[in-house]
Amino acid sequence: MNNRLPWHDTLWQQVQRSCQQDRLPHALLLCGPLGMGKALFAQHLAENLLCEKSPLHTEDKGRKSVSSHDGGVPPFEKGGGGISASTCGHCKSCYLLRAKTHPDLLNVQPAETGKQISIDQIRSLIQFYTLTANYGRYQIAIVAPAEAMTRNAANSLLKLLEEPPPKTLIMLVSHQPSALLATILSRCQRLDFGSPNRTAAQTWLRSRLNEKKRVTEDYVQLLLNLSTQAPLAALALVETEGMAKRQALFDSLTQLPSGQIDPVRVAEGWSKLEAAPVLQWMLSWTMDIIRYATTGHTQYLVNYDHQEALQRLAKQLNLRRLFEILDLQQEAYWLVTGSANIKPQGLLESIAIAWVKLGAQHHRR
Ligand SMILES: [Zn+2]
Repeated sequence: MNNRLPWHDTLWQQVQRSCQQDRLPHALLLCGPLGMGKALFAQHLAENLLCEKSPLHTEDKGRKSVSSHDGGVPPFEKGGGGISASTCGHCKSCYLLRAKTHPDLLNVQPAETGKQISIDQIRSLIQFYTLTANYGRYQIAIVAPAEAMTRNAANSLLKLLEEPPPKTLIMLVSHQPSALLATILSRCQRLDFGSPNRTAAQTWLRSRLNEKKRVTEDYVQLLLNLSTQAPLAALALVETEGMAKRQALFDSLTQLPSGQIDPVRVAEGWSKLEAAPVLQWMLSWTMDIIRYATTGHTQYLVNYDHQEALQRLAKQLNLRRLFEILDLQQEAYWLVTGSANIKPQGLLESIAIAWVKLGAQHHRR
């Protein structure tokens, strides 16, 4: 598989310059929406700093420019900043990295998805930095997602960031940097993974999807629209059957106004899915219904695959009540994404009941 993610090129070149000028900071914050490949970028950077022959090493720069056959161009500039080509692949470090046993790289993540990063895990990280680098280069830790740290864990990490040992790098990966302590943020250099260039994202996604079966431009665009333009999230929608789950969700949601299905049971089904995307999809459909109801045009709809059903609902349902449902869903989304401790079932139940009421009002009219 080709690991190169074209929308990383600019950030990669920025980091490359810092390394070559020996100005790489001790702490980096890689932030941006889910599905931009931030963790992959962190892993690639770690691999490049640890590889014995990587052009990222300042001490190797002079030697390389003399011995290189093509005038000293570092290998990863040849491919337009491609990351996968930059490690040598056969030094001792590369071997250990492939086996995931490199002693100078530590990955800190929750024991299970959705759980927190404990203070004990951060203590182990601090312990890791008290050792000398085994291979004399960097000692690198990747904390992902950084917002999963408990308050105590974050405070403990802060002490490390205040006095970082030499030749160390800590990378915090976060899609919710606003949930991190301001004192942590201020000690990290920020790498912003905003939305990629639209054409680059489309081209990359289309080529990945076409490896399995041919897809239309409209479908590629729909996947990106559903994923805040984050290409890896868009690909995951297909590979993890996210699109099938979305269809089932749409069917149940749009049946609710008919009053023929039990909202509590429906919400129970929804609560078995991951809450954030469920609410995002609901918001997207609700906004599409409102868009069509207020403009009468279909070209502004995000969910083009549900266009006919959305148009029908826009004609049937009360606009003011739709705005209320939009608020309800938005609030639920903020709650579930703002805290790891929210149980979404109650929120989903009130949303399902609101959709039933939307229909009841329509039947009375
Ligand atoms: Zn190597």
